Amino acid sequence: MTGSITDSIIKARYLREGESSFEDICRRVADAIGDNKKESEDFYDEMISLRFLPNSPTLMNAGTKLGQLSACFTLRVGDSIEEIFDAIKWGALIHKTGGGTGYNFSNIRPEGSGVNSTDGVASGPISFMKVFNSATDVIKQGGRRRGANMGILNVWHPDILKFVKCKSTEGEISNFNISVMLNDEFMQLVEAGKLDRVWLTHPNTGEEITVGAVWEGIIDGVWRNGEPGVLFYDEINRNNLTPNLGPIDTTNPCGEQPLLHFESCVLGSINLSKFTEGRTLDREMLERSTRRAVRFLDSIIECNVFPIPQIEEATKRTRKIGLGLMGVHDALLMLKIPYDSAEGREFCKDVMDFVNKISIDESRILAAEKGVFPAFEGSSWGDFPVRNAAVTTIAPTGTISILAQCSSGIEPVFSYSYTRKNTVQKTFEVTHPIFESELEKRILDLGKRPAEAENLKKDVMKHVHSKGTVQDVSWLPDDFKRLFKTALDIDWRSHILMQSAFQENVHASISKTINMSNASTKKDIEAALLLAWHEKLKGLTIYRTGSRKDVVLSLSEKE
Ligand code: ADP
Repeated sequence: MTGSITDSIIKARYLREGESSFEDICRRVADAIGDNKKESEDFYDEMISLRFLPNSPTLMNAGTKLGQLSACFTLRVGDSIEEIFDAIKWGALIHKTGGGTGYNFSNIRPEGSGVNSTDGVASGPISFMKVFNSATDVIKQGGRRRGANMGILNVWHPDILKFVKCKSTEGEISNFNISVMLNDEFMQLVEAGKLDRVWLTHPNTGEEITVGAVWEGIIDGVWRNGEPGVLFYDEINRNNLTPNLGPIDTTNPCGEQPLLHFESCVLGSINLSKFTEGRTLDREMLERSTRRAVRFLDSIIECNVFPIPQIEEATKRTRKIGLGLMGVHDALLMLKIPYDSAEGREFCKDVMDFVNKISIDESRILAAEKGVFPAFEGSSWGDFPVRNAAVTTIAPTGTISILAQCSSGIEPVFSYSYTRKNTVQKTFEVTHPIFESELEKRILDLGKRPAEAENLKKDVMKHVHSKGTVQDVSWLPDDFKRLFKTALDIDWRSHILMQSAFQENVHASISKTINMSNASTKKDIEAALLLAWHEKLKGLTIYRTGSRKDVVLSLSEKE
């Protein structure tokens, strides 16, 4: 990647008064979070080496008056006007500090219900979502970025059909990602082909809503523009590590954190591409970074400034942290393992298992030093003491992966040369360094003269930049093409199987986009959703190429 986009993001988002470099940011953050000098030095070392970075709010706010360090929040939305507008207010307070908010709107009574106090008629959850959306519009996060929200409706809410269509026109409710909370009962009916079965009857209109109407509504939406996403309620709750505190029905904006109402979570990601040693992974160094990262995130819970007391209370009760990985595809490229291969999935499953186990072990050590999380009694941890009810997650790492100059989260590289727009609509040309150097090597292998080799390389780079792929460059060796596939070259099944390979060893959930080709059909989408459910995923986000006008990453052809 070029340095310019990294510099521009550092300037636009993270520098505080008196700071001029990434080093300054790391110093401020490490000093604010380390318990003692040695720990601050360890934390500084992890960040400056780009082996580990915490989520954006920590980089922006640690050591400042604002002091709010978490990316993920979920809030409770009740059914009264007071409760609904309380949630809007709390959401605004969170957005101001750089956090994202998730809401499940299913408590709100359906459209057309009676309203006792005024003899009026309720307007339903979707109309209130629009108010939340407008509130987000006017709160810019200290001029840095606009707030992000997740809006969820349970598939058993009577307004579900209206909900699945509420974003069918691009630009509607634009500050929300929306997701339908599906359950096993519904999925079993779909799988059994019982699409004509009446799923629910709307209490106010008497309309009979069939399983098929909801299912087709979801599939149409996904095919049209990637919304709604889906969440799997039963899978989320089978893996709820504190069932003693009640079920989970909400996630943060990008879906990687299913949380109880009012919980927040701080995220951090290890850059796996920094741990490759020739064709192997340096596990000793990975273990050291993982242990430090767990301590880093746990310490944040202590020094965090929480936006409202309910959030402080809920967060400190479970002390969930979200340690994950980024730079995964880069690491695979360095190790010469194709992303969409059984070997790639096996490798990723194994690495995540390792990081998860080490994280749990460090949380156990922390528990011995500082005590278990307060709601430990009655949790799924039984008699195994840990300080954090959940430790692992996979975040999108949309911005911190740019700082770390690595592929984002567990996503495959989008293109090895492309144009990127940042939030202020500046464009940057980005070239992937591993691709470029391997290409040079392969061209040299052909025995070309330097000038000829240079021209050949330029031609390939131009081709990649405009077409986004090397799969159609006939003279490139097959193993090179097999390795350097992009998110769009990789078929949707392999995307889902990779998400599944990680999910097995992740406590929370995973933010990932399942890319589908533009030619994909509604049948493909249906098959993908069913596969995701069978693979025990907690949620799924699909995006069919070209189905939205406004995308952050785009090939130059589409600019
Ligand atoms: P980063 O790379 O900036 O640390 P991620 O892309 O990994 O952030 O996103 C992590 C989480 O941060 C998201 O799931 C969401 O909860 C929150 N988040 C991301 N973007 C925004 C935003 N624009 N406003 C508020 N919260 C956000």
